[in-house]
Amino acid sequence: MTVLSRISKATLLFVTIGLTTTAIAEKHNATTPSFRSAAITDQVSMLRGKGGNVAVLTGEQGILMVDDDYQDMTPALKTALQPFGGENKLTYIINTHWHGDHTQGNLHFGHSAKIVAHDNVRERLLTSQEVKLFKMVTEPYPEHALPSITYQKELTLHMNGEEVSVMHLPGGHTDGDSVVFFKKANVIHMGDLYFNGFFPFVDVQNGGSVIKMSKNVTEVLGMIDDNTIVIPGHGPVSNKAELTAFRDMLRGTYTEVQEMRDKGMNLGQMQVEGLSADWIDWTGGFLSEQVWIGIVNSSIEKD
Ligand SMILES: [Zn+2]
Repeated sequence: MTVLSRISKATLLFVTIGLTTTAIAEKHNATTPSFRSAAITDQVSMLRGKGGNVAVLTGEQGILMVDDDYQDMTPALKTALQPFGGENKLTYIINTHWHGDHTQGNLHFGHSAKIVAHDNVRERLLTSQEVKLFKMVTEPYPEHALPSITYQKELTLHMNGEEVSVMHLPGGHTDGDSVVFFKKANVIHMGDLYFNGFFPFVDVQNGGSVIKMSKNVTEVLGMIDDNTIVIPGHGPVSNKAELTAFRDMLRGTYTEVQEMRDKGMNLGQMQVEGLSADWIDWTGGFLSEQVWIGIVNSSIEKD
């Protein structure tokens, strides 16, 4: 590689990271809050707003909601719940993990609904939290917005004729991740263990790990079948084949970063070198390839 092309690639890298940060900021400041609602089965629907994907189980006994988006999406979420009987029917909220794009709705909906999450979600929300990569600080949540029902390994809720299995898979995206499996409907909400179609954020600073995320996804793949409908934390509704491709991307990119490290390359050199063309389809979303390399590298350093 010539010196000139090396410089231009490095400059491009800088611009790419800058653009990605701007894009994230814009996404978080969108001014037209609304949800797109899609029926997955008779009883389970997916609501896509601004933050993490929301799932609802509906029926005679009320509404169970998985994740509840940012605080400024609450009015839109109230509207989106109207066809299912409205927020007064909301009985349970499950938080798949503590990040604000999945839990800030607790601040409103927690006044009436019971919030369920892994023990570590409550622990984290009790105190100030930070995600340095996005310069994001979360203040402690008030009592009513905290999970009041917490669990360690697995919890089952029975509602509307459905068996809702809430399972903790440790140390993947954060240290308090749950997946929510609607057994009869054969629908699973993955939380942020799955970003469909683009490189994911892994909160290495707060207990996440790329290799554990890959292992946890593999564990889920062993629980589901080809008919299972898979709701990712971010991105469009999905299935087992696409989730398998995501797991393979986690493994493959991890191996490539490990190999570059084994050659003695530092982070900057790895980011200039880049990943193989196999993963080009994953670069078009949330995080640039260079940011993803940085996340994988920091995860390897912690493992
Ligand atoms: Zn998250």
